[in-house]
Amino acid sequence: MSGNSPFNRSGLTRRSPPSTPTPQPGPPGPAPANMQQEEEPPKVIPTSDIQTWLKKIELNLQDVCSTSAEGKLNTDQKIRINNMCRSVGHLASQMAIEYQSLKNHAIQAYQARQAHQEKMDLVQRIQDLKQSIEESSRQVTGPSFADALKNNGTRYVQPSNISSVAIYPVDKLKSSEETKSLVQKIIRPDEMKLHVRGLRKIKNGGVVISTDSKEDVIKLKQSEQLTTSGLTVDEPQKRKPRIVVIGVPADMQEPEVLKCIYHQNLADKLQDWSLEKFMASTKLSHKSGKKDAETCNYIIEVSGVIRKALITNDRVFVNWSSCPVRDFTLVTRCFKCQLYNHAAKTCKMDINICGHCGEAGHSFKECTKKDEAPKCATCSHYKKQCNHQTGDAACPARQMAEKRYLNSIDYEGA
Ligand SMILES: [Zn+2]
Ligand SMILES: [Zn+2]
Ligand SMILES: [Zn+2]
Repeated sequence: MSGNSPFNRSGLTRRSPPSTPTPQPGPPGPAPANMQQEEEPPKVIPTSDIQTWLKKIELNLQDVCSTSAEGKLNTDQKIRINNMCRSVGHLASQMAIEYQSLKNHAIQAYQARQAHQEKMDLVQRIQDLKQSIEESSRQVTGPSFADALKNNGTRYVQPSNISSVAIYPVDKLKSSEETKSLVQKIIRPDEMKLHVRGLRKIKNGGVVISTDSKEDVIKLKQSEQLTTSGLTVDEPQKRKPRIVVIGVPADMQEPEVLKCIYHQNLADKLQDWSLEKFMASTKLSHKSGKKDAETCNYIIEVSGVIRKALITNDRVFVNWSSCPVRDFTLVTRCFKCQLYNHAAKTCKMDINICGHCGEAGHSFKECTKKDEAPKCATCSHYKKQCNHQTGDAACPARQMAEKRYLNSIDYEGA
């Protein structure tokens, strides 16, 4: 047989089926770039070519048979040549059948891969869509903490000058309302020249009076009328400030992080603060950040002195990391009733208030009025103007809650 024969082996092996793809290691993520490429269909020999070759083989074999019949070969030799030619013809057509079957398999596999690829593309498109929906709904429900950090509005708080005193009844059974009316009867702001900023009820039958200056607070503390009317004047209970340390390595243990904060940032600066004193006065409020991320944010309750020492540096060093540090002043808004200063798990309301339209009986997710302009659910609760989004930075109810939060923090405390 010559090199041009269709039976030439090298000619067949060249048309081997496409190699199987190597499995992708690691977790399933977005499709790698090479998967996105349009895959070429398998190269196949058209059936008509194979039929032409078979015809040629047949003709050649017929030629061999007739040539051998002309020569001086004995009958036995002629029969043997004839048989050999028939056998070759038979084997050739068997190979053609096998090839056709392989070809069909290759085409089917290719089509299956194409269909799979289309499905994967669809999955990717759905994921993209889901992400953009999540992003836009986050914008509707107000900026997230991460966004707030990115936008980086106020890095740290200017403590207000407002001072306050807490007034409690000696008789523990008295209500805040009773204390309030008693205080309003005894104290005459005009006579005492007080600049009262607010009078609000607190726990244990008490009230808090906020004033413009420390002098006003001193005047109230020295007021004899108060103490002789069954009332006690006290420092209001103030909370420690909270700071957020951004980008702490997530694999570090909490005590380790706190120790690093002390040794790398405070030990040299605050000579009278031992590690023990620091650890005793510092408490991790909570951590925030994405699940499984390499870093997270630490929201830490610290004393006023520690806050000042850390925040003036703008950055806190934690082991090998340098982490931005900010005041943490986010007020909680309940996602059930849309009021401030409590979370949904402690909410006393038994129905949902919508964060978009402000109506009762459905949640933000279920709202059917998303095409309409938003109405602030919080302001609507207080029967105030509500033509803005719930949680909007300019919402008067939110600003009031933030102001109240800041006033409840002891920024000066040691
Ligand atoms: Zn609530
Ligand atoms: Zn609604
Ligand atoms: Zn509002």
